[in-house]
Amino acid sequence: MPTTKRIGIDHVKIAAEILRQGGTVAFPTETVYGLGADALNPEAIDKIFVAKGRPSDNPLIVHIAALEQLDAIAHAVTPLAKNLIERYWPGPLTVVLKKSPDIPASVTAGLDTVAVRMPEDPIAIELIRLTDRPIVAPSANRSGRPSATSWQAVVEDLDGLIDGVLCGPPTRIGLESTVVDTTGKWPIILRHGAITQEMIQACIGNVSTATSDAQRRSPGTRHRHYQPRARVVLFKDFLTLDPVLPDPAEIPVGIIGCRDDSDRAEIQNRLQKRYPHAEIKICRSMDEYANSLFEFFRHCDSLKLQTIFCQQVDSSGLGRAIMDRLTRASQ
Ligand code: AMP
Ligand code: MG
Repeated sequence: MPTTKRIGIDHVKIAAEILRQGGTVAFPTETVYGLGADALNPEAIDKIFVAKGRPSDNPLIVHIAALEQLDAIAHAVTPLAKNLIERYWPGPLTVVLKKSPDIPASVTAGLDTVAVRMPEDPIAIELIRLTDRPIVAPSANRSGRPSATSWQAVVEDLDGLIDGVLCGPPTRIGLESTVVDTTGKWPIILRHGAITQEMIQACIGNVSTATSDAQRRSPGTRHRHYQPRARVVLFKDFLTLDPVLPDPAEIPVGIIGCRDDSDRAEIQNRLQKRYPHAEIKICRSMDEYANSLFEFFRHCDSLKLQTIFCQQVDSSGLGRAIMDRLTRASQ
C-alpha cells in the first residue's frame, strides 16, 4: 500500500508541490480538515472521489485564497453573493454561483453552478497561495463517515489512500461550512454551519432553508452523512435521559450533550455513577458541542461502543447546524 506523507506545518511548500503535480493532500481549515486537489486538473479530481469513496454526483467545493481567483471559477457574481462575500470571506461560508466553463464537470457533478469558499485558516490560505491554483477540498473522511477535525482522524480514514496530510492543529469550528445558493431569485441555505441563518439574514435580508426541492440542487445533502459506526440515538434533556438509555447500565455507551448551567459537574457525576461504563462528555457551550461532536463519534467508535446518545439542542444559531448533523447521523 502506498504511504501517505505526514507533512509538518513548516513545510506547506511540500504540500503545495504535491498539489501542483496533481496529487492529493489533506489540510486543516477552520471548519474541518479538507482533502485538497487542483480544481483545474480532472485526473487529480478523480483521485479525490476514489480516495473518499464519494459518489460522483456529489459536487466539490472550490477553495480560493484571493478574490482575483473567482473570475476563473464563476462567471456571474450576483449582488446578493457580493454582499455575503464582502461580509463573511474569508470564513466558513460557501457560496454557490454560476460556473465558469474552465471548471471541470467532475467538480460540479455536471451542474451549471459551482460552490466556492475562501477559508480563513492561515495554513489553508498559505497552501492555496503557494499552489497558485483553486483547490477542491471536500471533507477529508471516507464518504459517509464523520468529518475529520484533526490530522489523526484523516489518517484513520485515508492513510495509504492519499498522497499527504498537513499535520496542523485540530480545527477551530469542527462542523462543515454553511452553503448558500445565490443563483436563484432568493438565497437558499443548503447546509447550516457556523455562519448562521441569523447572520445571513442580518446581511442580505430574508433567506430560506433548503426544502426538499432545493436539496435536490445540493446533491450531497441526499447522501448518507456524518455517521459513526455506532448507532446514534437522540434525547431531549439530561433529566429525561433515563428512559432512552438501556437498563441495566452495564452496556458501555457514549453520551454527549451541552449544559452551560452551574449544575454541569453535578449532572456529569450523577450520570457517571448511574452509567459507570459510559463515555460521557457534557460540553460547556454550543461552540464546544459543535467542535466535539465528530471527534466524540470517532472516539466512541475506537472503543467499539454500540450506541451514542446525543442531546438535541434548540434549532437556532449554531444549534441548527448541530441538529442537522445529529439528525443525519441518527438516520
Ligand atoms: P463536503 O465536500 O463534504 O463539504 O460537501 C460539499 C457540499 O457542498 C455538499 O453538500 C454538496 O452538495 C454541496 N455543493 C457543492 N457544490 C454544489 C453546487 N454546485 N450546488 C449545490 N450544492 C453544492
Ligand atoms: Mg463531507
